[in-house]
Amino acid sequence: MINKIFRMTVSIAIMIAVALVIRHFSTSGNSNGQREGYTISLRTIESADPNQPQLQSGFGGSRLVMGTFANITAVAEDDETIKASIEAAFDKLVEIDEMMSDYKADSELLVVNRHAFAGPVEVSDELFEVLKASVYYSGKTQGAFDITVGPVVELWRRTAKDGKKPGEEELAEARARVGYEKLILDEENKTVHFAVEGMKLDLGAIAKGYAIDRAIEEMKKAGAAGGLVDVGGDICCFGVSPKFNNIWRVGLEDPSGESSYLLVLTLSDAAIATSGDYRRFVVVGDKRYSHIIDPATTASAIGLTSVTVIAATAIDADALATSVSVMGRVKGLGLIESIDNTEAIVIPADEKLEFVKTSGADAYIRK
Ligand code: AMP
Ligand code: MG
Repeated sequence: MINKIFRMTVSIAIMIAVALVIRHFSTSGNSNGQREGYTISLRTIESADPNQPQLQSGFGGSRLVMGTFANITAVAEDDETIKASIEAAFDKLVEIDEMMSDYKADSELLVVNRHAFAGPVEVSDELFEVLKASVYYSGKTQGAFDITVGPVVELWRRTAKDGKKPGEEELAEARARVGYEKLILDEENKTVHFAVEGMKLDLGAIAKGYAIDRAIEEMKKAGAAGGLVDVGGDICCFGVSPKFNNIWRVGLEDPSGESSYLLVLTLSDAAIATSGDYRRFVVVGDKRYSHIIDPATTASAIGLTSVTVIAATAIDADALATSVSVMGRVKGLGLIESIDNTEAIVIPADEKLEFVKTSGADAYIRK
């Protein structure tokens, strides 16, 4: 028994360690290694090619956004461009968070949740875009991905506070208010309407990815030649990296500590997102429940400890990583195999902590 508890404690500790170590380390060469605060540290890149303009890279420090830490790196010809692109990217992250946060009472999302049953609510282009993308992913995953899962998520969040599992009856009642087919979007008027009273949208599985893509767009507009936006381990990178090539390295550290990284991924103009039951969960008795819900059953997703998806955009990677967590290894990896230029690396929830990958994933793994 003691042995079992010990093993469980160790594996939870390992899973938390995995969550904490998914970090991009392409910025680790910053001259003063600054990772805190609001200063931007700069580093000049020595180009092997004399015909290339001399570029510099800058790291914008870690800032708290969307309930987690965001890190932004920019590569450009001068400090002004670096600073402008990093600030523009952070501003965009904050702006999207204000719209889509589940925790800010006056966010556009929560206004929708309060009023969209009474009648159609007009929303910003940004929110509409995310709602449309969400419905697209619901269709693609046969409902495994569903932002209307809010009422069920709310019950499981209560469990995090009182330690009691939601009852069958209240789960069934909440389930009646879930279903993407009950979400009525009017493209022309950009309105959202709920077909059923008490519906609640939750963008926790997709807003971060969308915000990252928008932040990258801002960096390009501000003139950066390359950049990386990391929000809590979900990452998108583009263009020239601080090593003056187009390769950005993203590391998944070995939780056993035997080697420095379990995997090093090399990305060029690509995004990555990780979902998993190790990231956020609730514990009842000796059982851990994921914060990701299977909308079909209202149960918390089981089977995969960690799901990492590589895709062209962060919104795709984010939505798909959550989807695969719900769909499980066979169906989930099958879905990813069917999508071009998209790969997945998952860790099944057994104690071996071994990776299972889609067929093209190896191309991103540094040998
Ligand atoms: P992620 O960390 O991107 O996998 O997102 C997980 C968050 O998305 C949860 O904390 C919930 O807020 C929300 N969520 C849970 N289950 C689902 C689901 N099946 N589809 C969409 N969003 C979900
Ligand atoms: Mg997600």
